[in-house]
Amino acid sequence: MDRRKFIKAGMLGALSAVVSPSLSAFPTASSKDTAGRGVGHAGTKGLAMSFFPYELQLRHAFNLASYSRTTTPDVQVEITIDGVTGYGEASMPPYLGESVESVSRFLANLDLGQFNDPFRIEDIHDYMDSVAPGNNAAKAAVDIALHDLTGKIMGQPWHRIWGLDPSKAPATSFTIGIDKPDVVRVKVAEAAPYKVLKVKMGLDNDKELVEIIRECRPEVPICVDANQGWTDREKALDMCHWLAERGCLFVEQPMAKENIDDAAWLTERSPLPIIADEAVRRLADVASLKGVYDGINIKLMKSGGMHEAYQMATLARALGMKVMLGCMTETSCAVSAAAQLSPLAEYADLDGNLLISNDRFEGVGIVDGRISLSADRPGIGVVRI
Ligand code: MG
Repeated sequence: MDRRKFIKAGMLGALSAVVSPSLSAFPTASSKDTAGRGVGHAGTKGLAMSFFPYELQLRHAFNLASYSRTTTPDVQVEITIDGVTGYGEASMPPYLGESVESVSRFLANLDLGQFNDPFRIEDIHDYMDSVAPGNNAAKAAVDIALHDLTGKIMGQPWHRIWGLDPSKAPATSFTIGIDKPDVVRVKVAEAAPYKVLKVKMGLDNDKELVEIIRECRPEVPICVDANQGWTDREKALDMCHWLAERGCLFVEQPMAKENIDDAAWLTERSPLPIIADEAVRRLADVASLKGVYDGINIKLMKSGGMHEAYQMATLARALGMKVMLGCMTETSCAVSAAAQLSPLAEYADLDGNLLISNDRFEGVGIVDGRISLSADRPGIGVVRI
């Protein structure tokens, strides 16, 4: 059986399986979702890809130690073969160095039409790496769309294909950005359904933020993300003790990512786990961080997608490191793709879709604060809204 026949046979199998009603609910390349929308279009015989810019509108200004913004640039991607469409997305927070222009340029240079088998994800990554290095968010968009497409062809969500138990998906935290006290109180009230809150730190009111949250939610576990904002390791250690006494779970990227020695010094002494975020992007970064950090924060826009994110989680666990799954401000597309991996993670911070007001998808649910993975939605588990 050649590949095309295999794909068609797989689709027929999926269509005749229990999941067929949900599969048929997905839009195809001929639907209004894709017609006439693509800024770029590559490939006519094999995989057909279209993409277009989509600016994400944030519900609140997003304030970090280093900058503030009200929108996030984003590019939406669709890959279609034999009438089945997979959705992907590139989200580009400015600090990662990609933009709508760079992602569009990279995607326009791809010839996915040379591939007539979407299951060749490893080969397609090799091909993308041969076109240009970097461009991790652009590669993630293609990777996510391929996972969505192949999952739909198989009629299964990726957490099942990976053999993961959805009941092991962790609670997801809800991020409270740096802001004025009255705005923080509103954000904490909005976060009532969430069982874990994440606080962005790195300004001079760090302790005040934690105290306000403790006033509003005395029992809620708090994750702390300093986004490289702390500069003195002794003060960082004092802060870790202070936070540990107030029910914090871990501290993410306390100091500059280049500061390996101080990170290892702090990790050795801190009563709280220290998690790398900015210091880790790809699979090749993971092994060298053993002994420097207690764990890593994996994000699809850094890893180049689900394929390498799964490998990073597996390697980190083999090294005895903790796994955290994070996201950018994204639609439910990329967030639901990351959520497929969540049974491998101790911690999840998958709230990016909740921070925007113009989501294009309905995806992974949150039930009692925990990530709820549906067995009935194949691929990355999203439908267009
Ligand atoms: Mg972070």
